Amino acid sequence: MPVQKLSVLGSTGSIGTQTLSLVKDLGIELTAISGYSNYKLLEQQALEFRPEYVCAVEEGAYRELKVRLAPTGCKLLFGREGLMEIASRDSSDTLLNSVVGIAGLEPTLAAIEAGKNIALANKETLVTGGSLVTRAVRERGVALLPVDSEHSAIFQCLQGNTHLRPRRIFLTASGGPFFGQGREQLREVTVADALKHPNWSMGRKITVDSATLMNKGLELIEAMWLFSVSPEQVLITVHRQSIVHSMVEYEDMSVIAQLGFPDMRLPIQYALTYPERRPSPCRPLTVEGMSNLTFQLPDRETFRCLPACERAAAIGGLAPTAVNGANEAAVELYLKGEIGFLDIGDIVADALSLPGLEREDFSLGDILALDSEARLRATDFAQKLSGRR
Ligand code: NDP
Ligand code: MG
Repeated sequence: MPVQKLSVLGSTGSIGTQTLSLVKDLGIELTAISGYSNYKLLEQQALEFRPEYVCAVEEGAYRELKVRLAPTGCKLLFGREGLMEIASRDSSDTLLNSVVGIAGLEPTLAAIEAGKNIALANKETLVTGGSLVTRAVRERGVALLPVDSEHSAIFQCLQGNTHLRPRRIFLTASGGPFFGQGREQLREVTVADALKHPNWSMGRKITVDSATLMNKGLELIEAMWLFSVSPEQVLITVHRQSIVHSMVEYEDMSVIAQLGFPDMRLPIQYALTYPERRPSPCRPLTVEGMSNLTFQLPDRETFRCLPACERAAAIGGLAPTAVNGANEAAVELYLKGEIGFLDIGDIVADALSLPGLEREDFSLGDILALDSEARLRATDFAQKLSGRR
């Protein structure tokens, strides 16, 4: 069913703002929004959409909004608890989760428990809590719709064939700003270089993840949970133009692809209107746009986050949480200029040495505890790396 009432966690981010740019034209009522620290934008959004709830996670932002939103009648919430209250109590039928990082996991689970459908941009939710989330989705009978462009593409290629099992999935990767460069060249790249993505404009964390290919590793694990496929069934292919958003191969060797100019509003809108399609603000594809499509294999020796995620996917259990936690910590350090670009891959690979990752039977508490351990280990390892320089 197309969404009627929507709550958006992470409404001040790249996906969040693009979502809000669509809801009016789609006739969707916005019931709740949240941000971390960007109170000015949250205030603007609150004034424009007048949602029931507004949540600021960071304390300073909350204090600012207490004064600014007083006349609006919006209920102001604070912190992680505020996100949980929105997820479990607001009147929306669907929660679009575009928070960044593992912070998105608990609200996703709470919204599923409350019987809401989920439009999921926050891939870290599935990377860390895939088993819990997919089980809860089955038990509560809600829908889990992908927003990530590749996963939306796969989902679109599966339409009409959901009773068939895909033979393989071609998961496309832009390759990021450093494709084709070797380790020597990457030793000195700056944060500004890493933040220059060739095809997409996104939040800082995912932009760095795209440059390291960690993003593709996370997306491999995301695809495994969304489409019940093994890591061997997912073929990662570098496609520099980001026109083919992914492809599905069936038993008879037919391969179905979804194409379009890179624009996140398309996958966001499909998650909101599914199973329908509506006119969108996206630019139509042209012949020139398709005239030079290339596909290559990724360089796993240079971009070590990818093989680390592939190993984590093969191990299963808590291994994806370990690489994800280490990466979140490493990207933070990288953005602060405390480690080099190549260190991120080494830190992520090192996380797989944590003990007990193979466990299959674990709780939310175990995931959060392991996430903390992985972050600590990553910080220690980063200090050792800078000591060596
Ligand atoms: P942004 O950094 O642009 O936005 C993140 C949002 O989450 C902001 O609203 C931010 O608030 C909020 N936020 C940050 N930290 C926390 C926290 N600890 N708790 C709660 N809220 C927090 O990221 P993107 O929109 O680019 O990405 C969001 C998610 O979607 C990520 O998981 C990403 O991997 C995924 N995704 C993004 C795509 C894209 O094109 N951008 C494509 C596919 C997937 P504030 O701004 O106020 O600080
Ligand atoms: Mg993607």
